[in-house]
Amino acid sequence: MNFELPEEVELLRQSARRFAEEKIKPTQDEDEKNHTFRPELVREMGELGFFGTVIPEKYGGFEMEHGFLAAAVVSMELARVSASWSLPINMQMMGPALTILRFGSEEQRREYIPKLVSGEYFGCFAMTEPNTGSDVASMKTHADKQADGSYVCNGQKTWISNAHVADAGLLYAYTDREAKPRHRGMSAFVIEPKRWDGIQAIPIEEKFGLYCSPTGELIFEDAKLPATALLGEEGKGFKICMSQLDGTRLSCAARAVGLGQACLDASVEYANERKQFGKPIGDFQMVQAQIADMYAEHEAAKLLVYQAALRRDKGERATRETSVAKFFAAEAAVHAANETMKIFGSYGFSNEYPCGRLLRDAKSYQIVEGTSNVQKMIISGYALGRRS
Ligand SMILES: Cc1cc2nc3c(=O)[nH]c(=O)nc-3n(C[C@H](O)[C@H](O)[C@H](O)COP(=O)(O)OP(=O)(O)OC[C@H]3O[C@@H](n4cnc5c(N)ncnc54)[C@H](O)[C@@H]3O)c2cc1C
Repeated sequence: MNFELPEEVELLRQSARRFAEEKIKPTQDEDEKNHTFRPELVREMGELGFFGTVIPEKYGGFEMEHGFLAAAVVSMELARVSASWSLPINMQMMGPALTILRFGSEEQRREYIPKLVSGEYFGCFAMTEPNTGSDVASMKTHADKQADGSYVCNGQKTWISNAHVADAGLLYAYTDREAKPRHRGMSAFVIEPKRWDGIQAIPIEEKFGLYCSPTGELIFEDAKLPATALLGEEGKGFKICMSQLDGTRLSCAARAVGLGQACLDASVEYANERKQFGKPIGDFQMVQAQIADMYAEHEAAKLLVYQAALRRDKGERATRETSVAKFFAAEAAVHAANETMKIFGSYGFSNEYPCGRLLRDAKSYQIVEGTSNVQKMIISGYALGRRS
């Protein structure tokens, strides 16, 4: 077993680190304060190839032998500087582009994937609704087929990353409300929220963290979806959604690891600098124990992410490994952010230090792409032999 990153992945990792340090960090404080989304950063990430690691060349990517590992490593590097700015890996590649690649028609692939990979189009994916979160199959949004093959869609999606900036994205909705079991009536669509009539996007302005990542609602009022918007077959939406989550969850786990690294870096630096009782606080065993816990959890989380990514790179399914990685990395990130806050004492409470941002953003990992409880349901399902 080799724990060194393959050379092509290491080069991309260095590129992501440079990008984060040179393009995100310099304006980060101001951007966080003003909740600024900078579209040009997404385009620059596209130019650097961050959205093409698992996408074949003919659709604008450069499918790498270790494309999933590369996506995870880039996600980690971006999140090490900014959790907000690590989201585009999911919003462009792991969510819409990869799902269209897997389930889309040749026409859909050619139409959307290159634009998502280059950053010309901003992507999104929409399953969550005001009364539908963990229980995805309980969604109410429906798309009714018309005589000409098009669909008329009504419903409301909420907490959608990129909702009001997205050019193209995935929508999950019921096309058959009588199907038994109900999830067999769900279908997936590729939509163009800005261009198609009947789709309204409303930003969610007040949120707890991820200040530079746009989040909003998508309202569908007799929205007309062309027949060509259907992704895959009718009735296969739930399966497509679960497949999408296997990808977006992996990148989410990697982002949590990146944020954990940021906590560790900040805590180590501060513990070596800050003096109390005549010594650096890092000389005290209780602070050392905090750092040791953070370090051990961080390393374990990273290896779990690598394990899941390497399985995907071998062409294997990694639902269980991805859930384990996402659950563990999210909990480790929140723990690390909590400990960082403690190590910084009163300075941790000041917005001049990153501790508050790290803690706020870390909490998102326990929620998005399935909460920690949902990951435990999946993990225990495998462990108890109820899933295979
Ligand atoms: C910043 C941010 C960005 C997001 N981006 C997107 C996006 O781009 N697209 C999208 O579709 N969604 C997005 N979401 C929504 C996110 O996926 C959901 O919030 C998440 O799936 C949880 O759903 P919920 O909030 O409705 O919680 P609920 O499902 O209502 O859960 C509430 C609590 O109950 C627990 N719970 C629920 N069911 C069970 C059970 N059976 N057993 C044990 N515990 C249970 C949960 O773990 C949780 O603690 C985003 C959310 C946030 C915060």
